[in-house]
Order: sequence, then structure tokens, then C-alpha cells
Amino acid sequence: MSFFNSIGRSMARAPRSNTKRAPTPTSATFPADAQSPTVLKQSPSIGPPAPKPLYLCSPFVEAALVKGNFKTIVVLPKYVDIMEWVAVNSMHAFPSRLLFDFYTNLNEFYGVLTEFCTQHNCPTMSAGPTLNYTWINQDRKHVHLPASTYIDYVMTWVANMLDDDSVFPTKAGHDFPPSFPSTVKHIYRQLLRVFAHIYHAHFAQILHLRSEPHFNSLFAHFLAFGAEFELLEMKDLKGSSSSPVGVGALWERWKGMGILAVSAS
Ligand SMILES: [Zn+2]
Repeated sequence: MSFFNSIGRSMARAPRSNTKRAPTPTSATFPADAQSPTVLKQSPSIGPPAPKPLYLCSPFVEAALVKGNFKTIVVLPKYVDIMEWVAVNSMHAFPSRLLFDFYTNLNEFYGVLTEFCTQHNCPTMSAGPTLNYTWINQDRKHVHLPASTYIDYVMTWVANMLDDDSVFPTKAGHDFPPSFPSTVKHIYRQLLRVFAHIYHAHFAQILHLRSEPHFNSLFAHFLAFGAEFELLEMKDLKGSSSSPVGVGALWERWKGMGILAVSAS
């Protein structure tokens, strides 16, 4: 199934009117870099340094439902059957249910924020003071999209991937396709960008909803799992020195607090 032919076919979010201009990828299993949104480098900003983001401030940075080290639940999440976990515990047989849980939870959080993530408030897919992700359209051109449109594209694409039995086999005896690791990495990279935008642009609303412990827990689990299974690229998490990803600093803070006892640098 192609990416956009099935918008609205499955999963939670109602399609929005601004999905009409979607580019059309050629395949549901295109390589990780094809049709990939990417980062438009911008000049470093001039002027006084930006104030510290709220998500890096106490007590919000420590607010998490699960206390202690997330590695323990990465190694064996309590809601994953141990036999299933053992059976799928390799890169080629990835516990797709967990990826589905990340997607579903993130989608629910974003669904609550859509009234704030408007074209007016978020004209670009921002994730740091000097960082705006761009989308590659069907002409292979980098284009800026409003964050809401960008996130719609990402979430619809991920939903279709998770729903596609040729990408995520759900029946016993079906092999995982050779492109599976790169597909999962690509999904991870895109979901990371959605997290990064929410932290950068909507953390005040998360606080207003008193959801920061839940959101931090979800993100910490996402990071710990991604690091454990090498799905996270540090360059995606941290960005460049001139265009850092805001949540890259959160990763460092949580590592320093022992929340993420992972070996990745
Ligand atoms: Zn937004």
C-alpha cells in the first residue's frame, strides 16, 4: 500500500483538510533516505542566547511516572509476554507491538495539542531555536511545511507502515523483509522529530494539561529503547552545533540523572 493512498484508512486521528497536498512516494517500503524529510541548515541566530526551555528546568525535567532506570523496562517491558519477547528479541524480529505503543501514545498526545499546533503558531516544523525540518516533496525539493502538516504526513505514513503486513508481518511464518531494519530506523527518526517539535513548541501546553510526567515517561522509554536496539542516531537526536535539536539537551540531562543508563554517547 502506498503512503498516501490510504490516508484515513486506519488508526486514530481524523484526517485534516491540509493533507491534500501530500507528495506521493513510490512505494510503502522506500529506502530510509528516499522521500525523507530532512534538516534545512540555517545560519546561527544572532543576539542574546535563548532562555532555557521549560522542559530542561526543575521540576519538569524530573517529572516521570516511572522512577529509576528505564533500561530495566527496555530489557523486558512488563506488558510484553516473555515468550514473545524472547522470540522477537533481535533486530530482525523487532517487537513491533512496542513500536505500535509508542506511535499510539504519541498520536494521542499530539491529538490533544492540535488546537495549539496551527499553521499560525507553528508555520514550520521547528525543533530548536535554529532548527526547522524540511520535507522532501515529489520533485525531490526541500520544502517547509507547517508543523501540523508535517506531523500529519509522518503519522499517516507510520500508521500505514504498522498496518502493512508486508512491512510488519503479523502472521506466524512470515519473514521480515530485508528492508525492515532501515524501515524501523526511519520510523524512529520521524517519531523523534514529532517528540522534538512537541517539546520545543508545546511543552507549556503539556504542563498546562499536567501531562509532563506521562510525556516524559513516554519519551524516556522511547529513547532508552531506541538506544538499546540502536534505532536512534545520535546525529538525529542532537543535530548540529549550529542547529541543535532541543531534546538533545534533555537526553544529556536524563543520562546525567541516571534515567537513561545506556552506553550510547
Ligand atoms: Zn506545533
